[in-house]
Amino acid sequence: MPTLRGRCLCGSVTVTARAVHGRIEACHCNMCRRWGGLAFLGVQCGSGVQFTGEESITRYRSSDWAERGFCRHCGSNLFYRFIPADNYSFPAGLFDDLGDLAFTEEIFVDEQPDYYAFAQETERKTGAEIIAEAEAAGFTFDD
Ligand SMILES: [Zn+2]
Ligand SMILES: [Zn+2]
Repeated sequence: MPTLRGRCLCGSVTVTARAVHGRIEACHCNMCRRWGGLAFLGVQCGSGVQFTGEESITRYRSSDWAERGFCRHCGSNLFYRFIPADNYSFPAGLFDDLGDLAFTEEIFVDEQPDYYAFAQETERKTGAEIIAEAEAAGFTFDD
């Protein structure tokens, strides 16, 4: 996978990472939409992630199993991190060049409101399906 380089709006934080799944995926869940204003279009990059400007990152613990980061100077959303797997997912918009990554998956489609829809043909999964996949992989959730 090609190395992805990105930055926040003001440039205080830069990110270097690699896409572990080779795709862009959308999360339509209520929390992602409240956080970013619309579906979160993310690129999963695992734990092999490098930041510069770490002192400018504020981490918000959004649930028992996840935190979300943003730049404390310009407010750009920087990442969603699934803590049990130390898996970072970055907004696609942070990166200058996404290479040949394609938008191929949408999750929490059961929480998607009906005022928008993406035109791409994607694999669509409900929240229950995603949670079942994570539990099958050994992760547990309290609710
Ligand atoms: Zn910034
Ligand atoms: Zn979400």
